[in-house]
Amino acid sequence: MTPVSPLPPTVAAHVPTGILVDGDWRAARGGATFEVRDPATDEVLFDVSDGDEQDALDALAAAHAAWPAWREVAPQTRSDLLRAVFDVIVARTEDLAALITAEGGKPLAESRAEVAYAAQYVRWYSEQAVRIDGLTRRAPAGGSHQLVTRRSVGPALLVTPWNFPLAMIARKLAPALAAGCPVIVKPAQLTPLTTAYVAELVRAELDARGLPTGVVNVVPTSSARRVSGPLLADDRLRKLSFTGSTEVGRTLLRASADHVLRTSMELGGNAPFLVFDDADVEAAVSGALAAKMRNAGQTCVAANRFLVHSAVAEEFTAGLTEAFSRLVVGHGAEAGTTVGPLIERSAAERVTEVVDDAVAGGARVRIGGSRPARPGWFYAPTVLDRVSPDATVVTQETFGPVAPVVTFDTEAEAIALANASPFGLVAYAYTGDLQRVFRLAEQVESGMLGVNRGMVSDATAPFGGVKQSGLGREGGEAGIEEYLDTVYVAL
Ligand code: NAD
Repeated sequence: MTPVSPLPPTVAAHVPTGILVDGDWRAARGGATFEVRDPATDEVLFDVSDGDEQDALDALAAAHAAWPAWREVAPQTRSDLLRAVFDVIVARTEDLAALITAEGGKPLAESRAEVAYAAQYVRWYSEQAVRIDGLTRRAPAGGSHQLVTRRSVGPALLVTPWNFPLAMIARKLAPALAAGCPVIVKPAQLTPLTTAYVAELVRAELDARGLPTGVVNVVPTSSARRVSGPLLADDRLRKLSFTGSTEVGRTLLRASADHVLRTSMELGGNAPFLVFDDADVEAAVSGALAAKMRNAGQTCVAANRFLVHSAVAEEFTAGLTEAFSRLVVGHGAEAGTTVGPLIERSAAERVTEVVDDAVAGGARVRIGGSRPARPGWFYAPTVLDRVSPDATVVTQETFGPVAPVVTFDTEAEAIALANASPFGLVAYAYTGDLQRVFRLAEQVESGMLGVNRGMVSDATAPFGGVKQSGLGREGGEAGIEEYLDTVYVAL
């Protein structure tokens, strides 16, 4: 096989590999670095500077120093900056997509879609930057007026996962900057390159406009705790926005308790995908493909369990199996690839384990069920039926290209199965019954519900979960609220 070069040299030449503090990229003290690898080949792409406690504190000092000037910048100026960043992200789509594919593994078409999606957050918050409203009214009891205003929370730590290295940072960075908050970004160790590239675009735009470059700082590291620990212990930090696993989110919430830090938590999911007997089954199959297979199943909104009415279960399962048989597994930069690798060895091992466990428990493999014999961390697109609702592949977030089908007979049973999880990020439902849609919207415990569609994410809508899937929202009007304090003045 001809080796695929995931990163054109012209892109590679423009990726900063240092730590961004106060407008300058610098190396780690002592020159420490860590490796970033291509998950499709396990080859090293880059050595990136390994930030430590002091880098984290330097970044916080820069952000804190930049705050008074940044919050005073006219909203229109912040809006113009974000609009320029949107334009440059769109113009650099190919570079950014190549980077996302190189370090994260997803097919290039998906990486381009991530760039477009991420850019929409920047555009939306460039528009929202000038719409930070307050309230004034005469106090109902008379005798005074109430003035309610909003102001920036302050320096924010943004911690992002590896599965959407551009989109996850865009939906935090854009509202933070729009609200007047300086930031310290801690990208995922596995995918720091895309963040570095986009941070440099923002730094250059700030610099060109004579704005404080210390408002965007980036500290890549091989030890997340070394960076987050000192920051969460420092009362100059005013905000933490985290996207990642519930387990790490819980740890960070505990650490945030000491200073009663404002936190936003976008955590894990376990999305149910419900198919009722009145659904358009063909449409459900294409929705299932979209909800399951983006990034080889490694998304927080990935359909994790397919709950299907027994009357249409065979038709749906056969359709999904057929659709999976047409997927092309390969390097994300290879033409024609529709499914890339998993992010690392442990991910491929975990998926193997949960599928084997389901099969041992009586599940039937309709397609896939093993790792293809090739380098990198691939797993074959897999459909399982006759799966027990107690199987690990159903109860835990699989984060892989595996679709387990569980059957139900009544709506009440379907809702009970959907709610039988500590998570509640998103649910999907295929049905032709509008009354049922409203019952589901009332009763399914999730922050988002996709009705007759397998994708819900939209920069202009509030994204987030209930239960152990998180706190707060990203996107829409709600997203900027996470970076604003409310101040009431009695006049
Ligand atoms: P993760 O929790 O392992 O890591 C997320 C980030 O936290 C990374 O930057 C990591 O370096 C950092 N981190 C890890 N330990 C830390 C610590 N002790 N202190 C500070 N930072 C620490 O998650 P992941 O594997 O990168 O991402 C997958 C998870 O993220 C899945 O559970 C997925 O559902 C979830 N996710 C949620 C959303 C959402 O919007 N709800 C979006 C994408 C991913």
